[in-house]
Amino acid sequence: MSNYTARQIHLVSRPSGMPSHENFKLVEVDLPPPANGEVLVENLYMSVDPYMRGRMRADAVYAQAYELNQVMYGGAVGQVVESNNDGFAPGDYVLSNGAWQDKLLAPAQSLTPLQPFDKERISLYLGTLGMPGLTAYVGLQKFGEPKSGETVFVSAASGAVGANVCQIAKALGCRVVGSVGSAAKAEWLRDECGVDEVINYKECDDLTSALLGAAPDGVDVYFENVGGEHLQAALNAMNHFGRIAACGMISTYNNAEPAPGPNNLMLIVGKKIRIQGFIVSDHADMRPRFLEDMTQWVSSDQIKCRETVVHGLDNAVDAFLGLFSGDNFGKMIVKL
Ligand code: NDP
Repeated sequence: MSNYTARQIHLVSRPSGMPSHENFKLVEVDLPPPANGEVLVENLYMSVDPYMRGRMRADAVYAQAYELNQVMYGGAVGQVVESNNDGFAPGDYVLSNGAWQDKLLAPAQSLTPLQPFDKERISLYLGTLGMPGLTAYVGLQKFGEPKSGETVFVSAASGAVGANVCQIAKALGCRVVGSVGSAAKAEWLRDECGVDEVINYKECDDLTSALLGAAPDGVDVYFENVGGEHLQAALNAMNHFGRIAACGMISTYNNAEPAPGPNNLMLIVGKKIRIQGFIVSDHADMRPRFLEDMTQWVSSDQIKCRETVVHGLDNAVDAFLGLFSGDNFGKMIVKL
């Protein structure tokens, strides 16, 4: 039984607009050996995700706000170092909600055991085989309801959620149009993932025209990750009885004041469009089926996974901030 020292990142003030390093502090804390029912975990990888920006607000919308001067949290994969619970032994791989720290003392029931299909690719449990992959799987199928032959438009299409949406939609026989912020991302989606058309939104003068050009038969399903101009263009290009799976609106997350909405919302009425928001955590019942399908698709290379790996807890804040400037290509991961 030993004592441990953990390095943690605390939120020390609530950002207004784009967060900066002043909002965070690296802190060292002593951890006692695991008490009865507890497990000491050393994190191997942690996730940074756009939803964490919402938790930095005092009035977080659907998730609890992070406490000030406490360690933040989120998805992490790690290995058990010491266990005081019969269900876990040293060396076991676990998924936890204990990101933003290199070690954590966790109640055993808060940990999900992992039997990785490939130990070299265990970070996939934070991306394609984890929460973002499940978000894509649930959101597209349950709320987009795409049918073979229909056109699916995906914004933030090369990201953790978007790249999986694109590839699942292709597997379902859809025509897929993605929107991304760089030529390299567009090339990867087209050449490696089989996406039919990709728009680089940073290089087009008018997103609606670009989308209508890429989807001449109109859009049947819009998988919404970005909001703002993307939502406006999608509404313009959508077909009657189109469906919008509203997953997120990252373009708005750092607004200090609410931005004006799209100017064409009346199209929802005329085109009889259905918009359905969803939160992945409400759909945990689909995780076993998702894991079975996705593990098979990934191991057979039917779904390509891309990651941007940032090294070290000291660089985790930069990794998080990079999500808002498109620094990540695929899932943004921090290797600890
Ligand atoms: P990504 O891996 O896609 O990373 C974010 C990407 O968004 C960036 O790489 C960038 O790509 C793009 N982006 C950032 N700012 C803007 C902007 N102002 N305008 C257009 N694009 C922008 O993140 P995730 O896949 O993890 O998340 C995607 C969306 O899904 C987010 O809105 C997130 O909140 C949401 N989400 C929702 C969940 C739910 O349960 N509803 C669960 C998980 C995620 P580019 O270079 O292409 O601009």
